[in-house]
Amino acid sequence: MSSGPPIHVLRLGHRRERDKRITSHLGLTARAFGADCFHLAGEEDSNVLETLASVTDRFGGDFEARHEKRPLGWLRRFANEDAGDGSPGVAIHLTMYGQPWREVIPMLRRDRPMAIVVGGAKVPGEVYGICQYNVGIGNQPHSEVAALAVFLRDLLPTGSSPFEFPGGEIDIVPSVSNKHVNQVGINEDE
Ligand code: SAM
Repeated sequence: MSSGPPIHVLRLGHRRERDKRITSHLGLTARAFGADCFHLAGEEDSNVLETLASVTDRFGGDFEARHEKRPLGWLRRFANEDAGDGSPGVAIHLTMYGQPWREVIPMLRRDRPMAIVVGGAKVPGEVYGICQYNVGIGNQPHSEVAALAVFLRDLLPTGSSPFEFPGGEIDIVPSVSNKHVNQVGINEDE
C-alpha cells in the first residue's frame, strides 16, 4: 500500500460467473501496485473477497476488499463530500474514451484520497460526470487489469524499493533461477 493518502479502486459491474478471474486479478493488481482498498460493485462474490483476504493474510499488508452495494452513491459522496476524512477526494475513471494518462497524472492532487474507477459490464454514463477525471491508457479497448496496472505504476513509481507488505507469513526473495520463499519462522529455499 502507498505511503500517502489512501487509494481506493472501485470495480463496477462485476458478474460473478463471467468476471470471477478478472476481478480477482484486478484486486490482486490493486494490492500489489499500491492501492489500499478494493470496492467490488455489481454481483456480490464472497469467493473473490476471500481470495484477496487470503493473499493479504499470507503476503502481508493491510489491504482491504469489500462489496459496495451502491457504487454510484459511494462514488458521488467520495468525489463531492467525504472521501473518508470529511472532505472530498479525487475520483478518476479509467476509460478508453479518456484523456492521456501521462498528461493527467501530473495534474492530480496528491494530498487527497483517490478513487480509481474501472468498469466491467456497461459503465453508466453518470460515472463520467461524477469523476473529476476520465483517463485513457491509450484510446484502444483493452482490459481493466492492464489499465489499472499501468495507471498505478505511473502514479506510484516504486523505484527500486517495492511497496511494504508487513506482517505476512510469506516473503518472496527475488532469485535468478529459483523460487526463494522465506516463511515466517522458517527459511525455505525451493
Ligand atoms: N463495456 C464497458 C463500457 O461500457 O465501457 C467497457 C469494457 S472494458 C473491457 C472494461 C474496463 O476496462 C473499462 O470500463 C475501463 O475501465 C478499462 N479499460 C479498457 N480499455 C481501456 C483504456 N484504453 N484506457 C483506460 N481504461 C480502459
